[in-house]
Amino acid sequence: MLSTPHAHSHATASGHTHGTAPAAQPFKYPLERQFVEPDWTRLPGYQGTSKQDWESAVWQRKHTVKNLKELKAALGPLLPDSLAESIEKDQRERATMSILLTPHMLNTLNTDDLWADPLRRYMLPAFADRHPAWPNHPRASRDSLHEAEMWKVEGLTHRYPTKVLAELLSTCPQYCGHCTRMDLVGNDVPQVEKMRFKVTQPERWKAMLEYLRETPTVRDVVVSGGDVANVPIVQLESFVSQLLDIPNIRDIRLASKGLMGIPQHWLQDNVLAALERLAVKAFERNVDLALHTHVNNANQVTPLLGKAAKKLLEIGFRDVRNQGVLLRGVNATSKDLLELSFMLLDHARILPYYFYMCDMIPNSEHWRVAVGEAQQLQHDLMGYLPGFATPRIVCDVPYVGKRWVHQVAAYDREKGISYWTKNYRTGIEQDDPEALNRRYEYFDPVYTLTEAGQAYWREQAQAAVASSHAIHA
Ligand code: SF4
Repeated sequence: MLSTPHAHSHATASGHTHGTAPAAQPFKYPLERQFVEPDWTRLPGYQGTSKQDWESAVWQRKHTVKNLKELKAALGPLLPDSLAESIEKDQRERATMSILLTPHMLNTLNTDDLWADPLRRYMLPAFADRHPAWPNHPRASRDSLHEAEMWKVEGLTHRYPTKVLAELLSTCPQYCGHCTRMDLVGNDVPQVEKMRFKVTQPERWKAMLEYLRETPTVRDVVVSGGDVANVPIVQLESFVSQLLDIPNIRDIRLASKGLMGIPQHWLQDNVLAALERLAVKAFERNVDLALHTHVNNANQVTPLLGKAAKKLLEIGFRDVRNQGVLLRGVNATSKDLLELSFMLLDHARILPYYFYMCDMIPNSEHWRVAVGEAQQLQHDLMGYLPGFATPRIVCDVPYVGKRWVHQVAAYDREKGISYWTKNYRTGIEQDDPEALNRRYEYFDPVYTLTEAGQAYWREQAQAAVASSHAIHA
């Protein structure tokens, strides 16, 4: 007797099955998490803090945590001694950034499990987080993207044909443990003496504007740092307004992680008034003015961030976009990335734009993921979000620039070396006939490799030590 399709499941030619109970989607929407401002009075240091103080940017800056002593005062017994000791050891022996966190950011920590908390894992790295055998990749370096080599004037990186990066200053309202500009940004730490701008700020900014006036091939300026939330608004308005006066500039993106770290800054009346004047001027001149922020985990999407981002749209910004960093232990699962993307879209109207692979700066190994892992994550993100809001996972390849992770030209999985090509010359290759024929390398974390791959890197590391001894002998 023939069985009916309804009685039994069977596979169709395309592999679909009929007649069984529907299987669950790998990712579940709507999200189960809430969109609320966590109660700051649960943190011992902020028990008596009023709503008015909490929502004041001045109060937030004044109470920003700058060292372990202040962290202990803010968190009290919620900070386990073992973690405090490990953070202290890390600051002495591994950290490339000093501690700097606003109360607003601290309030998004899960104080029930600070060891595992994603924000803690990248803003307050502990020695025990780092990989014991491979805290550092043998090819890691300060300024791993060689931005300073591509400066046209101090702080103005001209890497792509039509785009530049203007580093207005070297401070932020918060310091991220994995900061790619660890070479320049922030305070000195025991492991890193920071590079300093030599030219005064007014002179540097003037020189940047002059270069842009004289370079019509540039249409797009990322106004960054550091973080533009630390540029006094009168100065920021003046700089951006002068950019808007340059006819070849068609796109301006202000870069501020502070939109999330201290949304109170962006909600101040004088700041919004200045930004609105800029947005009106940009619109009149057919220039797209946007703000790019840096949120790495859904826990950081709170109503204050949503309010600040929506204000920017309300006053005429073209967009607010997120450029997160893909970090193991923080967000490197498809669930984490999708949750973050939906929280940004649904509650803050922030466009999930990029996730960068963590750059090859010193001591970043435990955060980095392999290119193969990033490709899998990109695969797993597809199809859930609108196409225009599906974040691209990109690898910022030294001397190349951003490449989508599926653009890899060749990949030696055993040694964890990916090879990349490019289709334009950076600012330092105008006279280099081979620049577009070369293949450029990026390296997976060694501990993700097979034993044979790890043995290769052990030999490389030993050879590097031997040759440095020979040089110094
Ligand atoms: S906000 Fe950006 S520039 Fe500042 S420390 Fe973090 S990653 Fe670095």
